[in-house]
Amino acid sequence: MDQYLPEKVNINGEQFRVYLTQEEIQQRLKQLGQQISQDYSDKKPIFIGVLNGAYIFLADIMRYVNIPCEVDFLKLSSYGDEKVSSGEVHDLKNIDADIKGRHVILIEDIVDTGLSMNYLYSKLSRLEPASLSIATLLHKQDATKHDVKIRYTGFKIPDLFVLGYGLDYAQEGRNLGQIYILEE
Ligand code: 5GP
Repeated sequence: MDQYLPEKVNINGEQFRVYLTQEEIQQRLKQLGQQISQDYSDKKPIFIGVLNGAYIFLADIMRYVNIPCEVDFLKLSSYGDEKVSSGEVHDLKNIDADIKGRHVILIEDIVDTGLSMNYLYSKLSRLEPASLSIATLLHKQDATKHDVKIRYTGFKIPDLFVLGYGLDYAQEGRNLGQIYILEE
């Protein structure tokens, strides 16, 4: 069966159109996977995925990485059912792995204001990893107010709400195989 790739989607009365196709996403992940494999060629990095949004990105990018690696997850509070951030971050689930002395790559679906990544970077730094870098599928550069050092960026996007490929709107739309953007 083909993946779920409609031209348009309507959720809660809001209309979304295709913004990044399945092919564009996979092409870019292939490049990023190769880059990570080179950068960490003599190391065994641990990918830490930020739930829920990053689970599909993490699953796909890991399969373009051809060096030994591990995976773990954490979870932060989400937007709820809104399209704008609450401006607060809370931990909902912590990692299980001991990352002291490990090379950590934080995997995020999207950096918006940068609050979540800024918070997580400080939090994980305190656990004394050997190195810590951030990979995000999407970056709303114009919306980013907090200081975040992103090492790997899939796509820079405008400051508009997106969904699909793991990202939701009111918990829907994660199963879409590509990224959709809100129609203005
Ligand atoms: P930040 O802390 O950078 O403001 O926001 C990061 C989090 O907000 C992301 O992990 C994601 O869960 C959510 N988010 C930000 N922008 C969007 C968006 O356009 N669509 C969706 N579905 N989530 C978003």
